[in-house]
Amino acid sequence: VSASSSAYFRDVLETIPGYQPGRKIEGPGGRSVKLSSNESPYGPLPSVLDAVSAAATQLNRYPDTWAAELTAALAERFEVPEDHLALGAGSVGVLQQLLAATAEPGVQVAYAWRSFEAYPLLADLSGAASVRVPLRAETHDLDALAESITDQTRMVLVCNPNNPTGTAVREEALTAFLDRVPEHVLVVLDEAYREYVRDPQVPDGRTLYPDRPNVAVLRTFSKAYGLAALRVGFLIGHPHVATAVRKTMVPFAVNHVAQAAALASLAAEEELLERVAHTVKERQRVREALLADNWNVPPTEANFVWLRLGPHTLDFAAACEAAGVAVRPFADEGVRISIGTPEENDAMLAVAHSYPRRNR
Ligand code: PMP
Repeated sequence: VSASSSAYFRDVLETIPGYQPGRKIEGPGGRSVKLSSNESPYGPLPSVLDAVSAAATQLNRYPDTWAAELTAALAERFEVPEDHLALGAGSVGVLQQLLAATAEPGVQVAYAWRSFEAYPLLADLSGAASVRVPLRAETHDLDALAESITDQTRMVLVCNPNNPTGTAVREEALTAFLDRVPEHVLVVLDEAYREYVRDPQVPDGRTLYPDRPNVAVLRTFSKAYGLAALRVGFLIGHPHVATAVRKTMVPFAVNHVAQAAALASLAAEEELLERVAHTVKERQRVREALLADNWNVPPTEANFVWLRLGPHTLDFAAACEAAGVAVRPFADEGVRISIGTPEENDAMLAVAHSYPRRNR
């Protein structure tokens, strides 16, 4: 019996596939290299593990639903007032809360495409109509995005750097865009990969939102801070936006093991950002190796690279898989490959090197 045959489900369930997470595979000799989910390749720091085990002694208790201690630490770290912050179960949790606060049937949510897979999923679930604005040369077409805005638009999402292409929009273009967005539209700057940005012209959303009441920033502990499994994301925005995100949170969305790990990660930030710097170095090495091998790789400011393979996408992903390397293919478009440890990257580069030139 298919789910859609049940009379009580909404029609939208027939059209949404559900989130498809990056796969983990096992290759020859048990080799398993997971470059499919843009995770940090490094395990938790000892201090983070200690905080996790200490918090685990309280599993019988509900957590502090408003995460007072973590909120205070974030306010200090990011130099924003506490009422400019709101938390959720990962930044996708925060996005779902934002959509619960803004979206309903009859309204529109606009975003570039291709971008993060969760946008259409969550927008469709909210009942809003998605307006997908094609990327231009692998990057946001901010003019077209601005032109897509109608009286029905409630939210525009800008993923910066963009998943899966890694490209980032710069300050001049982004501020010109923000100046064009009418007040009835909330602009969400998804900065899940902000810590990996090295181009000084790519702005930190924290510097853009203070003068603009309808702009908010999404951040996460899942990538640079290495806590993907624990689901901690947060919004930085004006108090009216942060309040809306708090109102729409499911109770206790961020558990106290996760809160403790996030606090310990902020305390160990220097060490974690050294890991990020290492990933950035590897990103450069990987991109240069691919370019030297005649691959076309757009410049990337995130912890992944994008190979536009068109019709050869699934074939290349299968070649990676045969070597025990999991990547993220988007059929007929391209493959997104996370930056891992040097050994993991070498395993991927070996596949790329021997892949037929005519298909690249
Ligand atoms: N935004 C973007 C652009 C992402 O790529 C991801 C992770 N794939 C997320 C948000 C979700 O992160 P989180 O684990 O915080 O929900």
